[in-house]
Amino acid sequence: MAPALFRKLTVIGIGLIGSSIVRAARAYELVEEITIADRDPAHLERARELGIADRYCLDAGEAVEDADLVIACVPVGAVEQVALAIKDHLKPGAIVSDVGSVKGSVVRQMQPHLPAGVHFIPAHPVAGTEYSGPDAGFAELFQNRWSIVCPFEDSDPAALDRLVGFWAGMGANVECMSAERHDLVLAITSHLPHLIAYNIVGTAADLEKVTEGEIMKFSAGGFRDFTRIAASDPTMWRDVFLHNKDAVLEVLGRFQEDLFALQRQIRWGEGDKLFNLFTRTRAIRKGIVTMGQDAAAPDFGRSGKK
Ligand code: NAP
Repeated sequence: MAPALFRKLTVIGIGLIGSSIVRAARAYELVEEITIADRDPAHLERARELGIADRYCLDAGEAVEDADLVIACVPVGAVEQVALAIKDHLKPGAIVSDVGSVKGSVVRQMQPHLPAGVHFIPAHPVAGTEYSGPDAGFAELFQNRWSIVCPFEDSDPAALDRLVGFWAGMGANVECMSAERHDLVLAITSHLPHLIAYNIVGTAADLEKVTEGEIMKFSAGGFRDFTRIAASDPTMWRDVFLHNKDAVLEVLGRFQEDLFALQRQIRWGEGDKLFNLFTRTRAIRKGIVTMGQDAAAPDFGRSGKK
């Protein structure tokens, strides 16, 4: 059997992503010992009942002592608090990472507090569901999904290799890019779609002329698929928009221009223009399925998953 990549892993925040990481790290034998920290005693107790780690701590500082790899899996707005809690307890040479959906802000919040001699390398698995909490995680979450790692120009190559190896060991495809590029790419592929979903579901809920019963009953016409995204965790997504403000506002501006163009095409009966756009977008969907990033099934290929 190959030796584990890391001796001691500490995960701070035992929600969907944190509990998926500890389950995967154990299932694929990537670490020898796992410690979990969470500020919520009920979440820690649930994690203990599930038996997904070796040690359970309310205190993040105590949890990282002697850890070789520390991953903060808390909402983006809470990472500075985590950095402050752990900074005096990290051992020299430890790798500190995170999974936040925004990277520039995480760097600004965490990096200034972390001591020299610790390798800080942010990351973001582009995988998830609309569920939260310790029960929501599963070991296969990262299989064949992309994980983005955002090293700095002076990041230690050996530490970077180990972190990339950890994500690859959980079944992820890994790509490295700058935090700035990450935030722009994710603004269009993830953040804007969530904003649109929250908006469309909110608009439908506020429409006076269509009843709630009709919305539920006829939701299979397309609305239903937006409701899945709009059921995502409110704390996490509030933080994403507040912390990736510039990139989201940039793509939102472009989106609004394109929406106005569509409005004009409908008003003026420009069917050719509508048809051409819908043909292009259909090809993008086909490309995503061909790349294995979704199944062709109309339920987003998620049947049977929690
Ligand atoms: P989650 O299920 O809500 O879990 C977050 C956990 O962290 C909760 O138990 C929370 O406790 C705890 N926590 C919050 N602040 C803390 C602190 N200061 N110290 C210790 N624990 C703390 O969230 P998640 O979906 O796993 O998301 C975690 C991170 O992953 C976020 O940064 C998110 O952007 C990123 N991410 C999420 C997805 C996704 O699809 N969900 C995908 C990729 C990346 P409380 O409940 O008491 O706040």
